Amino acid sequence: PLVLGIETSCDETGVGIVRGHELLADAVASSVDEHARFGGVVPEVASRAHLEAMVPTIERACETAGIRPSDVDAIAVTSGPGLAGALLVGVAAAKALAVGLDKPLYGVNHLAAHVAVDQLEHGALPEPCVAMLVSGGHSSLLRVTDVTGADGGVDPMGATIDDAAGEAFDKVARLLGLPFPGGPHIDRAAREGSSVYVDFPRGLTSRRDLERHRFDFSFSGLKTAVARWVEARERSGEPVPVADVAASFQEAVCDVLVRKALDAASSEGIEDLLIGGGVAANSRLRHLAEERAAKLGIRVRVPRPGLCTDNGAMVAALGAEMVARGRTPSSLDLPADSSLPVTEVLA
Ligand code: ATP
Ligand code: MG
Ligand code: FE
Repeated sequence: PLVLGIETSCDETGVGIVRGHELLADAVASSVDEHARFGGVVPEVASRAHLEAMVPTIERACETAGIRPSDVDAIAVTSGPGLAGALLVGVAAAKALAVGLDKPLYGVNHLAAHVAVDQLEHGALPEPCVAMLVSGGHSSLLRVTDVTGADGGVDPMGATIDDAAGEAFDKVARLLGLPFPGGPHIDRAAREGSSVYVDFPRGLTSRRDLERHRFDFSFSGLKTAVARWVEARERSGEPVPVADVAASFQEAVCDVLVRKALDAASSEGIEDLLIGGGVAANSRLRHLAEERAAKLGIRVRVPRPGLCTDNGAMVAALGAEMVARGRTPSSLDLPADSSLPVTEVLA
C-alpha cells in the first residue's frame, strides 16, 4: 500500500511516504533551533512551528515521491505519545487529508513507529524480536510478536524507572556546556575522549537490583554522578576534560543498554534484537551492540541514524503495516493522546 505518514509529537514536522517497505519520501522540518536557547523543547513554540511547516512539508514529500495526495491508499498519523498541542496539529492535518481525499485514517503509536521504521531499510521485521526503544522520553525493552500491537504483540519486558536514555544525554550535555539536544554533541565529543577516564555507575546492574529490575533501566544516578564529578573538578579550579567525561558517560549508558537488551533476547531465546529511537543513532551504542551480539549469535538491526530520530517515514511505515495486516482504521474522532502507552499501537 501507498501510505502518507505525519509525525508531530515533538519538534519535528515529518511527512513520509512509503509503498510497503519501500521509502519514497521523508521530508522533515525541525523547529529545534527555536528551542535551543531554552535548553529544551517549548511546547507552544513547537505547535506553532508545526502549523506553519505542515502544508509545505506535505507538498515537499509528495513532490519527492512523485505522487499526488489522491494517489495514497491511507493516511497515518502519530496520535501519541508526545506533546499534546504538537500532536493535535498532526492529527488535525491527517483528518483533513483523510476526509478531503476520502481515504482511511490510521492513528498510530509513535514508539511502535520507532520500531517499524527499520522495515524501510532492512525489510520485513523479524517477529518475534526484542526491541530496545531508546529515545528522548522513553527507554524500554519490548518483546515484539506483532508490531501492529494485535493480540498483545508489543509486550513490555522492562523500562526506565526514572530518566530516559536520551534525557540523560541531554542533561549531561548541558552540564558539559554542549548545545541542545545534547546526544549528537556527546557522541561527537566522545570520539576524542577516553571511555575509561571515569568509572561512572551502571544503574540497576547489582545482583540485588537485577532480582527486581533485570530488564529495567535507571539513568538519574548516573546523571548525578556526572554532575558531582564535574562540580568537584570545577571547585578544584582544574579544567573539565569534556571529551573524556562525555566518553565515560556514554560508555556507562551504552554498556547497560546493550547488556540488558542482549540479556532480554537471550532470556526469551530470541535471536533478533532491534534498536530504535533517537539514541539508537549513537555511534558507540551501535558498535557495542553489534560487537557483543555477534559473540552470542544474536542479529542486531538498527536503522540508519536519520531514521532513528523523529520523522514521518516511521509513521508511514507503521501505517503501511496496519493496512497490510488488515487492521481496522481509526475513526474520524481520533483523539491525540499525550500519554498513549506503548502497548496500544493503533489508536
Ligand atoms: P520519544 O520518542 O520518547 O517521544 P523524542 O521523540 O523526543 O522522544 P527522539 O527524537 O526519538 O525523541 O530522540 C531524541 C533524543 O535522541 C534526544 O534526547 C537526543 O539527544 C537523542 N539523540 C539523538 N542523536 C543521538 C546520538 N547520536 N547519541 C545519543 N543520543 C542521541
Ligand atoms: Mg527532536
Ligand atoms: Fe521519538
